[in-house]
Amino acid sequence: MEYHFPVYKTTSPKEKPDQDHLSFGTIFTDHMFEMSYDEGKGWYDGKIIPYGPIHLEPSSMVLHYGQEMFEGLKAYKAEDGRILLFRPEKNAERTNATNERMCMPQMDPELMVEAIKKIVEVDKDWIPEAQGTSLYIRPFMIATDPYLGVRPSKTYKFYIILSPVGAYYKGGLSPTKIFVEDEYVRAVSGGTGFAKVGGNYAASLKAQVKANEKGYTQVLWLDGVERKYVEEIGTSNAFFKIDGEIITSPLTGSILPGITRDAVIQLLKEWGIKIIEKRITIQEVYEAHEKGNLEEVFATGTAAVISPVGELCWKDRIITINKNKIGDISQKLYDTITGIQTGKITDTFGWTVEV
Ligand SMILES: *Cc1c(COP(=O)(O)O)cnc(C)c1O
Repeated sequence: MEYHFPVYKTTSPKEKPDQDHLSFGTIFTDHMFEMSYDEGKGWYDGKIIPYGPIHLEPSSMVLHYGQEMFEGLKAYKAEDGRILLFRPEKNAERTNATNERMCMPQMDPELMVEAIKKIVEVDKDWIPEAQGTSLYIRPFMIATDPYLGVRPSKTYKFYIILSPVGAYYKGGLSPTKIFVEDEYVRAVSGGTGFAKVGGNYAASLKAQVKANEKGYTQVLWLDGVERKYVEEIGTSNAFFKIDGEIITSPLTGSILPGITRDAVIQLLKEWGIKIIEKRITIQEVYEAHEKGNLEEVFATGTAAVISPVGELCWKDRIITINKNKIGDISQKLYDTITGIQTGKITDTFGWTVEV
C-alpha cells in the first residue's frame, strides 16, 4: 500500500539549536505528524503540520483515564549523508502489542514506518551531526472521546514529534549509581508492564524521586509479587554478567520488550558469548558479587543505548561493580550498536533503514 501524507509547512521556522549543547527532550522541530481515528472509519487524514499546541476537549478521555501509548526511536545522520533509522518496524510491531493491551486501534506497521520516514525527511535539517547526537522520534497516541464514562474511546489522535538530542554521556560512557527499590513496584504480570504507556511512568515517579533524593540516578525494579527478582533499571532493560555468562530477565509480561535488549541478545549470540534469559534474584546478584563473580551490570534502551552500572544499593548494602569502570562487554556493545546506527559499522543484521 502506498501512503501519501500532505505537508503543510510552517511559515515561521525556528532557529536551530547549538549542536554542542543539546540535552534530552527540550527542543522540538518545526513540524509534526498528525492522524485521526474514528471507529468504523479507521485511520485517516495523516498529514504533516507545523509543530504546535494541540486542541482537546477538557473531557477528552486521555486526560482522565490515561488511555494513551508512546514509542521512542532515533534518526542518525551518517558520515556519507544518509539518514538512518534503527529497526523502526520493531517500534511499529510493539505499538500494536501495546495497543492490543490498551484497547486502542491497531495500525498498519507500514503506515507507521512511512509516517516516521516522512516527518524525519521534512525536518531532516534538524538532525544534529556532532558525535553522539541524534534526532529523537516520539510517536504517541491518545484517546479523544469527550466522555467521562469508563470504556475504550472510539476516537484517537496519533502524533509524531521530533527532538534533537545530545550525547547521553558527554565524556564517554560513565557508570551510574542505582538504587534497588523494594517498596514500590513498577509492574506485575497481567498488568501493563510490557506495554509502552504513560501510566507505567506515572506510577514509577515516586520511586525515582526517592532514589534521586538518596543520591542515585535510577532505580532497579524488583518483580511486583515477591520483590526479589531483578526486572528493569529505570526505563531500560537490565543485564548482569556473572562468571562469564550474561543474564537478563525473560519477557515475563512485566518486562518491556526493548529493541536495544533484542539487539544486545543477537550480538552476544553472534560473538559466542553465553546469554541466558532467566529470572535471577537480587540475592543471587549480591552473592555473585561476594564471590567476586559479578563482572558487569548494564542497562539497555534507546536513549543511552548501553548504560553501565557502577554501584548498587539494596537495603543499605552498597556494592561497587567492576571498580566503578565500564566493562569490556558494555563498551563493545555500545561501540557496535552506535556504530551500526550511525553507519560506521557495516550492518550485517539488516537493522538500519534509510529515510
Ligand atoms: C522503552 C523502554 C525500554 C527500552 O526499550 P528500547 O526499545 O530499547 O528503547 C525498557 N524499559 C522500559 C520500561 C521502557 O519504557
